[in-house]
Amino acid sequence: MAKTVKSAKPVKSKPSSAPLHQLTPDSLERIKKSIHSILTEVGEDTTREGLIDTPKRYAKALDYLTSGYRKTAKEVVGDALFTEGSSQIVIVRDIELFSMCEHHMLPFYGKAHVAYIPNGKIIGLSKIPRIVDVFARRLQVQERLTNQISEALNEILKPSGVAVIIEAFHLCMMMRGVEKQSSYTITSSMLGDFYNDPLTRKELMSLLGGLGGTGRR
Ligand SMILES: [Zn+2]
Repeated sequence: MAKTVKSAKPVKSKPSSAPLHQLTPDSLERIKKSIHSILTEVGEDTTREGLIDTPKRYAKALDYLTSGYRKTAKEVVGDALFTEGSSQIVIVRDIELFSMCEHHMLPFYGKAHVAYIPNGKIIGLSKIPRIVDVFARRLQVQERLTNQISEALNEILKPSGVAVIIEAFHLCMMMRGVEKQSSYTITSSMLGDFYNDPLTRKELMSLLGGLGGTGRR
């Protein structure tokens, strides 16, 4: 009869975090090949000096720019949560943001402003920009990016309220399409007290003061 060994918990091999955050060598190799084809298709000579290593450089850049797929908000926050009685609004504003639109794979960039109202816990302030990056370093639409940041903070911190406002320029609108160089897009996601209570939302907006700088201030 087979013996049940109670102590034998399934042994999970703990993956070292660095390689997990990177594309596999096989993926990088396939991306290099694809970029090589694209360069040929647009009429380039892939053997000339400036282009010879471009597929490799692009694959590496793409690895970095999409590294958010291989991270979670929980993971970047780690144990940087602290018990604290304050229930006043905390704002980290003007967080530089770089992402890529999923429709054109062109960059959009600007600023994120993140606010929350603690409910027993506060988060290490430097972790907020890192949460922004987890979701920005993916192919995105600005609307979803905004919601993902607020939902992640809501889940991790369980605060009384979360607000995320993003102002961004989209290169797919500036370089092509409608070719509007100075219009930018504002999105917001309000949860909890920021959503339910107009006074709290008003306080936030007055603390944020004039928005509308988006990288050109
Ligand atoms: Zn686009």
